[in-house]
Amino acid sequence: MKNIYFIGECMVELRAMSAATLHQSFAGDVYNSAVYLKRCFPQVTTSVVTALGQDNLSKKMLERFESEQINTQLVFAHDTKVPGMYYIETDEHGERSFIYWRNDSAAKKVVDFLDADALEQLSQGDMFFFSGISLAIIEESAREHFWKVVEQLKDAGVKIVFDPNYRARLWNSVEETKEQYHLAFTLADITLPGVEDLTTLYDVHSVEAVVEYLKPYQIEEIVVKNGPESVVTKEGDTLQSHTIIPVTNVVDTTSAGDAFNGVYLGARLSDKSISSAVQLAAKAAGAVIQQPGAIAPKDIFQLAMVE
Ligand code: ADP
Repeated sequence: MKNIYFIGECMVELRAMSAATLHQSFAGDVYNSAVYLKRCFPQVTTSVVTALGQDNLSKKMLERFESEQINTQLVFAHDTKVPGMYYIETDEHGERSFIYWRNDSAAKKVVDFLDADALEQLSQGDMFFFSGISLAIIEESAREHFWKVVEQLKDAGVKIVFDPNYRARLWNSVEETKEQYHLAFTLADITLPGVEDLTTLYDVHSVEAVVEYLKPYQIEEIVVKNGPESVVTKEGDTLQSHTIIPVTNVVDTTSAGDAFNGVYLGARLSDKSISSAVQLAAKAAGAVIQQPGAIAPKDIFQLAMVE
C-alpha cells in the first residue's frame, strides 16, 4: 500500500450565509489535497501531519479527518493552543473577502512534535508533501529542525513534494520567502507551482519561464499549473503540454490547486503516467470550482469524477 504525508495547517472555516448565519466547516491547503486524493484513490494511505488543540473544535476537526478516511496518527494535540480560524464573506459582485485568526494557532507548533518516533513513521512513507503555506506557518525557531527532518526523509528515499502556494501576508519579507523556497526547491523531487505564485516572487510570467527558473535545481518532476490554461510538465528532459478544458460556470476557485495536487499525487502513487495523472487532476479541479467552498460535497464530486 502506498503512503503519503501532508504536513501543514487545517483551519476552522466560518462562512457568512446571511446577516445572522455562519456556516462552520474545516479547510486548509494540505487537508484539502488529502481529502481529494483519498476520495479518488482510497487504496493510498493518506495522512495529515498537524497540531490541533484539546478543545471541542479540535475534536470535531479530527472526526472530520477520520470521516474522510484520512490517517490521523500524526495529528498532535497541543496542551494550550487552539486551531486557526478564518471568516469568508462573498459580496453581491461575487468578490470574496477573508479575515484570519491564525497567528497563534496550534499548527504553528507541529514541528515541535516531530520526534524520533514520528520521523521513523514518516520515513516509511512514499511521499512527504509541504506547501509554501506550511513553510510560512512553521515558526522561525523550528525551521532548522524542519529542514533536518526533510533531509532525513529524502535520505531515507521518501519523495519530497513542494507546492510554492505563495501567500504574501504570511511572510515577513520576500527575501525570507525566497530563502525558504530555495531550500524547498533544492530538496524537492516533485514540485507543483502555479505561474501566478512565482510571478510575484521571481518575475516569471509564463509556464516556460517557470520551467526555466527551476532548471538549476535537481527536480525530477515539475508540474506547472496556470488556471484554465494548459498544464506543462517536465520529467527529466521531457517537456509536455497538457490541454485543459476550461470550465464555463466557475462558482468558486478555492482549492482548485489543492484538488489538482492531491489527485495528481494519488495518480502518480497509483502508477499512472504523468499525462493521465494531469487529466485526472484537472478533472477533479474542474469539478471543485463548480461548487462553493474548499471541499465539494462527496457525492457531487464522485459523480463528476465518473462522468
Ligand atoms: P492555484 O489554485 O494553485 O492557483 P490554478 O488556479 O492554476 O491553481 O488552478 C489549478 C488547476 O485547476 C489548473 O491547473 C486547472 O487544472 C484547474 N482550473 C483552474 N481554473 C480552471 C478553469 N477556469 N477551468 C478549468 N480548470 C481550471
